[in-house]
Amino acid sequence: MSGPRFRFAPSPTGFFHVGGARTALFNWALARRLGGRFVLRIEDTDEARNRPEWTEGIISALEWLGISTADPTFEGPYLQSDNAAAHLEAARALAESGRAYWCAMTPEEIAERAAADGVTGYGGWSRDLGLDEGPGRVLRFRVPEGETTVIDSVRGEVVFDNSVIEDFVLVRGNGTPVFNLANVVDDHLMGITHVVRAEEHLSNTPKQQMLWEALGHTPPAWGHVPVLVNEQRKKLSKRRDKVALEQYREEGYLAEAMVNYLMTLGWSAGDDVEIRPWSEIESLFRLEEVNLSPAFFDVRKLGAFNGEYIRMMTAEEFAAECGRWVPESWDRDRLSVIVPHLQPRLVTFSDLEGTVDFLFGPVVVDEASWEKAMSAEFASPLLAATRSAYAGLPDWSAEVLKETLETVMEPFELKLGKAQAPVRVAVTGRTVGPPLFESLEALGRAESLDRIDAALARLSG
Ligand code: GLU
Repeated sequence: MSGPRFRFAPSPTGFFHVGGARTALFNWALARRLGGRFVLRIEDTDEARNRPEWTEGIISALEWLGISTADPTFEGPYLQSDNAAAHLEAARALAESGRAYWCAMTPEEIAERAAADGVTGYGGWSRDLGLDEGPGRVLRFRVPEGETTVIDSVRGEVVFDNSVIEDFVLVRGNGTPVFNLANVVDDHLMGITHVVRAEEHLSNTPKQQMLWEALGHTPPAWGHVPVLVNEQRKKLSKRRDKVALEQYREEGYLAEAMVNYLMTLGWSAGDDVEIRPWSEIESLFRLEEVNLSPAFFDVRKLGAFNGEYIRMMTAEEFAAECGRWVPESWDRDRLSVIVPHLQPRLVTFSDLEGTVDFLFGPVVVDEASWEKAMSAEFASPLLAATRSAYAGLPDWSAEVLKETLETVMEPFELKLGKAQAPVRVAVTGRTVGPPLFESLEALGRAESLDRIDAALARLSG
């Protein structure tokens, strides 16, 4: 195996965390630029997490991000559960070499002994008992004295005092290997040279590095990237925050925008450019330039990126994408009149339906909007004057509709924005929405006038 080997090792959870997406992309960018491999390993050893559809979900999310299983850089997926025998073999090798030992103490016995000795945690009490493997016994790693220095591409040298690391468990009483052992054995078996992952694993790293060394192998290069936080600077959590990549996908964020935005979280190329294509990101990204502070996952900023990417689409691409986000039953001709006017302002495609639904069904009046627009003295006379001017127009186009309203509003001494409001609420039911005159054009004369008539009736009734 030649070339650097990166990996992404998610534990299936049923959804794909945006932080995991960023970790995957960091690894992907590095593997691609350096001509290496991106290995996908599903860490599925937790029985409850062994659902094939969750693995499919991970792959589908990666594909959406542009991490293609068909790309020669991609390797896998491997399942951690397939390696169980190797994990236990490594555990026994460590027991045989004396780097690990069996321990029969129960958690209660450990707690009692720790209280009596005035220590916290496990004090290595079974180290020299020479116990054999047996039912209920755990295998513990014999943590050597001294220090463990982790060389991390993001954080530099991180020194851990081994005296604060207890003799940690490698194999549980029920015979199953723990995360640290399985993770290290798999990384070794898969020839991983670079481990780039979330900062929350930094505390595991001295233990893992000791395991690499005890097993007689050279540890990989490490890189721990800062976590993503919300507006309150709290770590993104499933309970509090919208963290599932799938949800953003369903809401109509574009994959390119999401990918670009994720790559700006904790990293910049040192210039002021934020929006750039993947090909550039891939050639510029350096782990050494990732900063140490937690990165704010700002949904509003993501929306701004998405808007930028929408603006970059060709008119044809945009129209085709819009077509996918509205009901089949909607009149395509009518849609095609309004769509070009949405491209400059749309944030996500899931906003589309609610923005233009008034063109494809009966107007639903928002009462707060009605109150705001129709309580003015001028609302009713202006609407009536507009109605009669519109009724006689030879040409029903946005431009003419606008000019006509401008003429009608003159005696009322109003600005266009004010004068538009009653017409907009009459026709769309809301005070905000797509450009009014283009909406009227799309809706057509008969329906527009009907809606104005209905509003006038309500105002006089
Ligand atoms: N399975 C671990 C997780 O999802 C990742 C382990 C690693 O990257 O080393 O948090």
